[in-house]
Amino acid sequence: MTQRPRYRFAPSPTGFFHVGGARTALYNWILALQTGGKFVLRIEDTDDSRNNPQWTQGILDALSWLGIDPSDSHFEGPFFQSANAALHVEAAEKLFAQGDAYYCDLTSEEIQKRSKESGKPGYDGFSRDRNLGPGSGRVLRFKVPAGSTTVQDEVRGTVEFDNATIEDFVLLRGNGSPVFLLANVVDDVTQDITHVVRAEEHLPNAPKQQMIWRALGHQPPSWAHVPVLVNEQRKKLSKRRDKVAVEQYREEGILAAAMKNYLMTLGWAPTGDTEIVPFEKITAEFDLSSVNHSPAFFDIVKLHSFNADYIRAMSVGEFIDACLPWLTGAKAPWSTASFDAKVFAEMAPLVQTRVQLLQDVPSMVDFLFCDLPTIDDAAFTKAFAPEWASATLIEIRDAFKTCEFTPDALKAVVEAVGEKHSLKLGKMQAPLRVAVTGRSVGPPLFEPIVLLGREAVLKRIDAALKKQT
Ligand code: GLU
Repeated sequence: MTQRPRYRFAPSPTGFFHVGGARTALYNWILALQTGGKFVLRIEDTDDSRNNPQWTQGILDALSWLGIDPSDSHFEGPFFQSANAALHVEAAEKLFAQGDAYYCDLTSEEIQKRSKESGKPGYDGFSRDRNLGPGSGRVLRFKVPAGSTTVQDEVRGTVEFDNATIEDFVLLRGNGSPVFLLANVVDDVTQDITHVVRAEEHLPNAPKQQMIWRALGHQPPSWAHVPVLVNEQRKKLSKRRDKVAVEQYREEGILAAAMKNYLMTLGWAPTGDTEIVPFEKITAEFDLSSVNHSPAFFDIVKLHSFNADYIRAMSVGEFIDACLPWLTGAKAPWSTASFDAKVFAEMAPLVQTRVQLLQDVPSMVDFLFCDLPTIDDAAFTKAFAPEWASATLIEIRDAFKTCEFTPDALKAVVEAVGEKHSLKLGKMQAPLRVAVTGRSVGPPLFEPIVLLGREAVLKRIDAALKKQT
């Protein structure tokens, strides 16, 4: 029986979970689903100076959020690289014992000096035939054979490396600790990984790692190096410069489904005339060989527009549930006591079609959950600048005192006042909107006015008129 593919995702827990990592994880997950294989999660936590359990938890949370679920039968792990340290050293000893690796005691200054003298960059293999044994301060280096190394890459095709350009690289540091190149291969070997799908920045590691695989007596995996994500200036997304943390997008109210769909359109596209498609279609169609070789632009504006589409596609009930974290609890801008779920439910359909991020929902409805709204000064000044503003608002207020209190009747009142003064509804509404909501923009106005009730609205209009005088 041929073995089912075993993919893996091997993040280092050294910071917030990067959107590029999320895309790589999704690729591996989808491929495992497609093939009935496994998605092995390995936390590469061997860099003590940069690791933090908080980051590991962040990775696990973000993966679950994206639907990469540890309880799914395709999921294996998480495994922790630090638990395998003995295996890494054992593999290094094997490579030494069989003559594929040797110890070297040159300091980096000495290596630099030799390189300067010879005019050739890097380490020159000085200790290859010195037969040194292990010892403090001695590094173990892999003996790179002559010839070339061919990496078959599912995204990039055949990539040929001239071994002459690869120095005898370090496997164990002077303190005996294994380096990434070795630990990563040994874990892949131990965990029976058949497919390595990872970021393009690791392509230069592939020939070295392929040599280690072979020297350890194993058939190398199938490789795929996925092009990087870049920002608007076509620079590689970096956590110092760009907003890269999945957590942050989640906090802002990007939906997991929108994020998954958007990430999968970076460098790849589903068939048909829209990129916004169910995850099942993506899972059915995704294919590494059709992933674009060039860097993909991570376009936040487009991500927001995907999100707006996903928000609009929800039922109102789903939308209300999705908004809850922003409406109740710590994120809400009002006290829990003043929030009225029934009032929000009435407003939800109007908000749902106008919002791109769930975090923007409270500012569209906050005026409903307070006594008097906080008036935005700039909006106020602008709305009340025309000489007709106060006079028409007084007329509107007086009509509101007795008119039928329905959206249509209220709108008719404002239109009638507008007609009298030859002003269009949009213009006429501005002072009223600021008086009622405190802002110049927001959802349709007359429905929330009804929700607030006659008394509250008259009070707001009077307060605004008073502010004006
Ligand atoms: N731990 C490595 C990283 O986060 C991944 C290496 C790999 O996928 O082979 O970049």
